[in-house]
Amino acid sequence: MVSVNKNYKNIKESYLFSDIAKKVADFSAANPDIKIIRMGIGDVTRPLCESVISEMSVGVREMGKAETFHGYGPEQGYGFIKEPIKAYYAESGVELDLDEIFISDGAKSDVGNILDLFSPDNTVLVPDPVYPVYVDTNIMSGRNIIFANSNEENGFLPLPDENVKADIIYICSPNNPTGAVYNREQLKKWVDYANKNGSIILFDAAYEAFIDGDYPKSIFEIEGAKTCAIEFCSLSKTAGFTGTRMGYTVVPKALEAENMSLNKMWLRRQTTKFNGVSYVVQRGALGVFTPEGRKQIKENIEYYKENAKIISDTMDELGIWYTGGKNSPYVWLKCPGNMESWEFFDFLLKNAGVVGTPGSGFGNNGTNFFRLTAFSTKENTIEAMERFKKLVKTLG
Ligand code: PLP
Repeated sequence: MVSVNKNYKNIKESYLFSDIAKKVADFSAANPDIKIIRMGIGDVTRPLCESVISEMSVGVREMGKAETFHGYGPEQGYGFIKEPIKAYYAESGVELDLDEIFISDGAKSDVGNILDLFSPDNTVLVPDPVYPVYVDTNIMSGRNIIFANSNEENGFLPLPDENVKADIIYICSPNNPTGAVYNREQLKKWVDYANKNGSIILFDAAYEAFIDGDYPKSIFEIEGAKTCAIEFCSLSKTAGFTGTRMGYTVVPKALEAENMSLNKMWLRRQTTKFNGVSYVVQRGALGVFTPEGRKQIKENIEYYKENAKIISDTMDELGIWYTGGKNSPYVWLKCPGNMESWEFFDFLLKNAGVVGTPGSGFGNNGTNFFRLTAFSTKENTIEAMERFKKLVKTLG
């Protein structure tokens, strides 16, 4: 009889978003006249930009003609899309070879799939609070997970502790859920720790496009990172590809463990288990990197960033402690009135009709925190913050 991967028994069922949906549905049924504003969504709302649609349309038409039809493509992506990605990195001073860039169907899959390269014996360090995918994918393969305390004291930017030995380290900057961003000195500490201890950093740069301050967009801007890090990036939040699906993963050729090249291992893994991203999508992604496309996606990002500013200005005005809001679409705030995060969720929904995400859904250190996102419309963000202000002022 077949035996199953029993590690799945150890994965905690995530009720976070279903619990939120149920509470919102119940409230809405009981209060049909109240307009609910959703500030908890992690999905984008702005459509694909014209430049992407135009390139994608070319790709679609090509697929309909025998002379320009594309069948199976290179598993690791077409050169025509890797070239502009290489050039994009070069703008930040990062020189990559084309065969260090692997085109993927998004950061989530690759963040999970990369674990094929590592033994289940490794100890994994993840911050708490955290994007839950890092935790669940490691539980699935039975790894030991330890948590790095990310909290108000360290500004939700934990630094390495020499007394803690970790083989695989997850870093997400700008962070989901906290919006906090590591600076160069802080990232250098992680890179030095990893090189000294023979650890690998899995760096999630899904929100790099929101950075406009002097913060590293890529871990490879940090000296020494090419011998200890793999980077995951995504067009989801950069260019509204959440439903279109494309990302890229950078595995440097200088990266080795136990005398094995992780670049070669990843190539082998991808050519064995993955057949590449659709030609039409890669063609569409070309429209992200043209000068016109860059301008158009920037407009969308600026739109979200303006929303983030409306939210963070409100927190400033109310004197509420928070991280994010700058260089990030997330604002992570300390629940007013010393409330627990679900208590504050109910309070905000019932009295203001505004929905956010309780911090406890991302880990124990989120117990008294709450995530608001900038992915709503500007009108709704303004209205939600007006209601938020009025309500929180009643707490005195
Ligand atoms: N990484 C982080 C930190 C995220 O927040 C998300 C999406 O919310 C992803 C990765 C997933 O990205 P993708 O849509 O490219 O799979």
